[in-house]
Amino acid sequence: MSSNEEKLPPHVLIFPLPAQGHINPMLNLAHLFCLSQFHVTFIVSEFSHRRLLKNSAVPTAFARYPGFQFRALPDGLPDDHPRAGEKFFEMIPSVTNVMVPSFKKMMIQEEFLASGHRRPVTCIVSDGSLSFVGDFAEENGLPLVYFRTAAAGYLWTLFCYPQLLQAQEIPFIGKSMDGLVKSIPGMEGFLRQRDLPIFYRVDDVNEPILKNKADVTSEIVRAQAAIFNTCEDLEGPIVSQIQKHMSRIYSIGPIHEQLKSRLVEEKAEASIVPASLWPVDRGCIDWLNLQPRKSVIYVSFGSVAVLSSEKLVEIWHGLVNSSQRFLWVMRPDSISGNDRILHELMEGTKEKGLLVEWAPQEEVLNHPAVGGFLTHSGWNSTLESIAAGVPMICWPYSGDQTTNSRFVSEVWKMGLDIKDTCDRLIVEKAVRELMVVRKDEFLERADEMAKLVKKAVSKGGSSYRNIDDLTEYIKSLVI
Ligand code: UDP
Repeated sequence: MSSNEEKLPPHVLIFPLPAQGHINPMLNLAHLFCLSQFHVTFIVSEFSHRRLLKNSAVPTAFARYPGFQFRALPDGLPDDHPRAGEKFFEMIPSVTNVMVPSFKKMMIQEEFLASGHRRPVTCIVSDGSLSFVGDFAEENGLPLVYFRTAAAGYLWTLFCYPQLLQAQEIPFIGKSMDGLVKSIPGMEGFLRQRDLPIFYRVDDVNEPILKNKADVTSEIVRAQAAIFNTCEDLEGPIVSQIQKHMSRIYSIGPIHEQLKSRLVEEKAEASIVPASLWPVDRGCIDWLNLQPRKSVIYVSFGSVAVLSSEKLVEIWHGLVNSSQRFLWVMRPDSISGNDRILHELMEGTKEKGLLVEWAPQEEVLNHPAVGGFLTHSGWNSTLESIAAGVPMICWPYSGDQTTNSRFVSEVWKMGLDIKDTCDRLIVEKAVRELMVVRKDEFLERADEMAKLVKKAVSKGGSSYRNIDDLTEYIKSLVI
């Protein structure tokens, strides 16, 4: 027996920020590792774990992999904390102050670090937004791999914070917002000031959130490797720019498509299971089954956005006035102010529109009746829409979304970007343009993009090769 064959399988500890948009891709990575017979410990907050158990089939689906285990730890927030809107940003300090000490205790108590342990940890795959995990890995001599769940384009804009500062391109508040940004290599031709991540919209360039985002992003280089949920066809030139600072980057996305492709190839009995933190309303699939092909615009602003009822009413009027069918996800916690107004409005629109609290989004986007997506441009939603070949109207809300939406409209040309507006006339015009006037053009382009990303995750494709290289790299870390 060669020494290679005697080695135990790698044991990877995966630590996401306990939020829907981070758990989803990192759980898909865990699933891919399980298919390679790796052992995986997945850290999740007790709050999210309870909701995963209640609202999804994930725990049952993973039960088929004996090497997989969840470890649930307190995140330090009370159960009734909204973990959404502005309050979302309270999560990182709370996780740092409460979850980390519990995590360290767990690592010691369960002897995950000891070489005599049945399954010593081979490496930590940490959410790139959690820098304390990097500290822990360094202190304990554990190889560290950062998984950045956002787009490479967004990360690169934050990476270039020093250059923007030096060139005095920031702060830009008070300027037109429509000027092109010149100091971000690879984006000079299309990125306007208003397309920079929302954190750049400050008068003071030392504003703590902006500084923190820029610092945490540049910290990526302390890891031995990084994983991006993107692919060459979407962001190859941008990833090459980041690779000048860190060579070992694995672009393995869109990860949900990669997982689907591997499961089919391996004829695995398991299927991709959505990691819902909210109860899924499958009634919307029955409703979609009754609608004509490509006739419905799907509307969702993700798991974190909280919008005023005034804004939502504008969007509602725009949708109704466009005369198009729509399926709208409205989380119970997503409206600030008077949420009754909207429910009353929706009552009167039963034949054209359907409102649900949480949808099986990936399935919805792949449904033949869906022809467009009015989205907040979260990165997971963007990737899911691209892979499903669904054109988008982008109405970004926060964080990275202002940058993602520019890529959708100007780089991949598969949609419209209506950022910084909230007007029923603009919404109506955009919906008509996407669903009627330029429907064929957008669908054709979206179809081309879907084919490209599907090729990237199929045998021989760039993301397919990169996940193989990543698993080989992790195997090489086993002592
Ligand atoms: N999602 C879902 N059902 C819904 C709305 C959203 O399953 O009704 C999922 C969606 O498929 C995506 C995630 O929630 O995977 C949202 O992540 P994204 O990065 O798009 O936005 P965020 O919620 O982080 O703002």
